[in-house]
Amino acid sequence: MSALQQESCDGDGWAFCAQGHRHWGVFGASGLLVRHRDENAVERILLQHRAAWSHYGGTWGVPGGARRPAETAEQAARREAAEESDLDTTSLPVTGEFVDDHGGWSYTTVVVRAHLAVPVAARGGESVELRWVRADRLHELELHPGFAASWPHLRDRG
Ligand SMILES: [Zn+2]
Repeated sequence: MSALQQESCDGDGWAFCAQGHRHWGVFGASGLLVRHRDENAVERILLQHRAAWSHYGGTWGVPGGARRPAETAEQAARREAAEESDLDTTSLPVTGEFVDDHGGWSYTTVVVRAHLAVPVAARGGESVELRWVRADRLHELELHPGFAASWPHLRDRG
């Protein structure tokens, strides 16, 4: 793609990967996995309940979305999380990253640590709710298939 074409494309749109899936994000996508460990060493992660109209609507996953041409995966993940919730993502340190590479398209999950599990409200139209979910109880929710596939790789990261 030429520079001129990229300039006119902000990254929103469908892409097909080498595995034949259709994915959102011409330049790939990324999401923010926010982890918190409480004083009893109980691990929680911040999950987004996706709006019914969205791709895989009604499932739970991490906030995220399409990358823009000039963005790193981390910048896109922080921006998308801030668009979809009122979480202040700027101060959360990155502790890990996992790239789910499908060939021609990839999803990068950026792992950050939150010192406190403060309540987080949904923002914009893509989230119904954001909720801190115990990491050992994720199976009780209907997970977004992309997140479900990445979670075994992410569980012990960060
Ligand atoms: Zn794919």
